[in-house]
Amino acid sequence: MWAGEPQESSHGATQVPVVHSVGFGYEDVPSWQAAATGETTGHIYSRNTNPTVEVFEEKLRVLEGAEAATSAATGMAAISAVLHGLLEPTNRVVSVKDTYGGTSVLFAEFLPRLGIEVDLVDTDDGDAIIDSIERGCDLLYLETPTNPTLKVLDLERLIAAGKDHGAVTVVDNTFATPVNQNPIALGADLVVHSATKYLGGHGDALGGVVAGRADLIDTVYHYREINGAAMSPMAAYLLLRGMKTLFLRVEQQASNAMTVARFLEQHPKVTQVNYPGLPSHAGHEIARRQMRGFGGMLSFSVEGGYDAVKRVIPQLQWAHRAANLGAVETTVGPPATTSHVECSADERAALGIPEALIRYSTGIEHVDDLVADLDQALEAI
Ligand SMILES: *Cc1c(COP(=O)(O)O)cnc(C)c1O
Repeated sequence: MWAGEPQESSHGATQVPVVHSVGFGYEDVPSWQAAATGETTGHIYSRNTNPTVEVFEEKLRVLEGAEAATSAATGMAAISAVLHGLLEPTNRVVSVKDTYGGTSVLFAEFLPRLGIEVDLVDTDDGDAIIDSIERGCDLLYLETPTNPTLKVLDLERLIAAGKDHGAVTVVDNTFATPVNQNPIALGADLVVHSATKYLGGHGDALGGVVAGRADLIDTVYHYREINGAAMSPMAAYLLLRGMKTLFLRVEQQASNAMTVARFLEQHPKVTQVNYPGLPSHAGHEIARRQMRGFGGMLSFSVEGGYDAVKRVIPQLQWAHRAANLGAVETTVGPPATTSHVECSADERAALGIPEALIRYSTGIEHVDDLVADLDQALEAI
């Protein structure tokens, strides 16, 4: 909770001040120049660095056990900075079909345009991922658990294979959060987060962060400072405020999600429940090994396809019907309007996302209320 917070502050303020200033002034040119060239510490311009944003980066660096961290305006800006900062034409990327919708658009549309080859392998097939790595891999990009089907990748095994072939290894840790999973401890070079989700936790601030090897963070930061998608000081403040309760929230969300998943699993109108905490989940054993908890995200399929999805969702009283996730309130939606809004129906089908699927981001409400709410909503089928 205290991680990254400065020891000293002006006026003895106990909370991190929001420094809205765009520029930072110096008395003379030599001291200004020393700060500008990095010889001394000091801020120059808030697109590059900002005191409030820096505290957020430091908190995340500590939580992920990383050498360095840098931030961006959104999760997608952070992911774009990693991919555009580190890759060049003729490079080959290996990833999986189940990455976040926006990330999969980078892989399918924007990177190939730059002459970067991307192989998206079946997420369930660890051997096929390793086969692809062996055909050449400059960057291995993983995400686990995945959005929205909650598949679990064996990070230690895949990262080791990537490193054997000289790849930079990157893990999107948004769903797990640093509370439940630390990919760097499992060998990853870089970890990315959409801070918009669990880190902030209140659905009121956009942000992204990258943590990991200092030499790689330098390169990613350099791209991001020029690309210009910087985190705003106000967003950094809201994210810092949210992160004070990160552990409490994530523990409550995981405990609620487990109860909800067990309830859904025995419900006659529910055909499939995806939650890594369920012993029936295909990735349960791997999740137990590499995660400290199973998180608050789950998804389930209902009898009757997309028509049934459209009937159930409006009946829910204790859930926002919104694209966000990871907030203290429960949020619900179909992939077509949430995780994979950027994809066409054909693309979703190709990614193996069923049209009967409902994504459920469990909040911190009383779990009895959530179960009762789902129970009455499922009667609409
Ligand atoms: C939301 C999300 C992103 C993108 O983050 P934004 O802050 O919306 O840009 C990336 N990865 C995952 C897993 C996400 O859930």
